Amino acid sequence: MTNTLTDPFGRAIEYVRLSVTDRCDLRCVYCIPRGYKDFVEPEAWLSFDEIERIISVFGRLGVKRIRITGGEPLVRHNIPELVQRLSSLDGISDLSLSTNAVQLGKQASALKQAGIQRINVSLDSLQADRFKKITSGNLDKVLKGLEAAKQAGFSPIKINMVVMKGINDDEIEDMVEFCIKEGHTLRFIETMPVGNTGDKATDHYYSLAKVKERLESRYELLPSSLSGGGPARYYQIARTDLRIGFITPMSQHFCETCNRVRLSNDGMLYLCLGQNDMVDLRTPLRAGINDEQLEKLIIDAIAHKPERHEFNTQPGHVVRFMSQTGG
Ligand code: SAM
Repeated sequence: MTNTLTDPFGRAIEYVRLSVTDRCDLRCVYCIPRGYKDFVEPEAWLSFDEIERIISVFGRLGVKRIRITGGEPLVRHNIPELVQRLSSLDGISDLSLSTNAVQLGKQASALKQAGIQRINVSLDSLQADRFKKITSGNLDKVLKGLEAAKQAGFSPIKINMVVMKGINDDEIEDMVEFCIKEGHTLRFIETMPVGNTGDKATDHYYSLAKVKERLESRYELLPSSLSGGGPARYYQIARTDLRIGFITPMSQHFCETCNRVRLSNDGMLYLCLGQNDMVDLRTPLRAGINDEQLEKLIIDAIAHKPERHEFNTQPGHVVRFMSQTGG
């Protein structure tokens, strides 16, 4: 179907990041603050029926890709059931999941069977004590989760590493070797000032241009392409299968090719990760609007998609945490 969701800057919106919960079983230093309790109450969570209805309208409007995220999506019960429901919707041809892998050991196979095609896993350190410091979690569980995902047939798995100066920047080469050995794709991400945790993390900002320089002194990097619908710029390490993506929202923003919006678990449609613009879909949905009205609401929302984020010029602008919008 032709894409009927085009924003005022000519960008076709074909990708929704769907946050199914703002809760998480980890506490990464740059994301949810430790001790944070102000989570969305269950009455406000979109039910699976409500999610299915909204996504079916997006599918009719030309959205093809859905990434399930959070918070940690796997802390919400019965995610494979939701996946199955979304995978049978008209127009939706690509269903993927972002996870910290803590619960993948138990769920990888059910997720694959239900229709998840691609998995991204966040992994900032391969050292158990450091992993615990950054995330408050258990590295072993994550490694077992990754193994289970491989066994279930996910390939390649994309590893996302947020690079932080003085925290894990000495592990860049180790992560490269780990991903070569395991057959994963590796993506480096710059810290973003989202919420006050993200603000503090930008004190540890480490430019990915420097990461690339470091890698070039050790490996031969060849330009590469990889489809995933996202903003990463890819290289391949010569004589290996490893592809490395650089996601540089700070040093080289990619807003001009932005193709996505984010639906939060309480039914707010966020139009840009780095702005506060949003439209409430939950209230009208629960007031009984029909599909035609829902379509119009979404089309009108896209007409207000901001041109770009202002992380560099207005770093304190986005007060919600990444987990609230769906990272
Ligand atoms: N729980 C899932 C996971 O771990 O991938 C999905 C949600 S998590 C919010 C999505 C991604 O956002 C993770 O890769 C995380 O590292 C990243 N993230 C969260 N806060 C960030 C920040 N302030 N700057 C850069 N990346 C951030």
